[in-house]
Amino acid sequence: MSAIVKYPNRILKSRCSPVTIVGEEEKEILQKMAKTMYLNRGVGLAAPQLGIRKQLAVVDIGDNKLTKLINPVVVESEGTETMEEGCLSIPNVYIKIKRAKRIKVKSFDENGREFNLEAADLLARAILHEIDHLKGRLIIDYINPIKRFLILRKNT
Ligand code: ZN
Repeated sequence: MSAIVKYPNRILKSRCSPVTIVGEEEKEILQKMAKTMYLNRGVGLAAPQLGIRKQLAVVDIGDNKLTKLINPVVVESEGTETMEEGCLSIPNVYIKIKRAKRIKVKSFDENGREFNLEAADLLARAILHEIDHLKGRLIIDYINPIKRFLILRKNT
């Protein structure tokens, strides 16, 4: 079992490298990420949360549809919605975040094939949250430093 990297570990703030060749190692990491996400009842997990600086993420919003993302990029977005969000790396912290309501994402699958994915609502939110992780962006980066300080002092 892999432990989830917690804030303020520096790895969570780093930009992840794109995967150039999808091999066995990447497949294994994605497998491990999915297992860790399910065990922790999360709706998504990004590689840096397991201490790996690669653009890999998994998402499952509870409908047993596991999506594995490699080098995901948002190519279109539409509408906005504000909802409270948490993160497995920052326990007990929930922050209202405005995100796109519908997105179109380009990604590679674990066989190295490119695919397009359309997502809305919670699925879109979960994917955007994970893509943020791959860029070193966390939910607490959406609020101002004073509020962030107060929230983190209270909860972590
Ligand atoms: Zn997170």
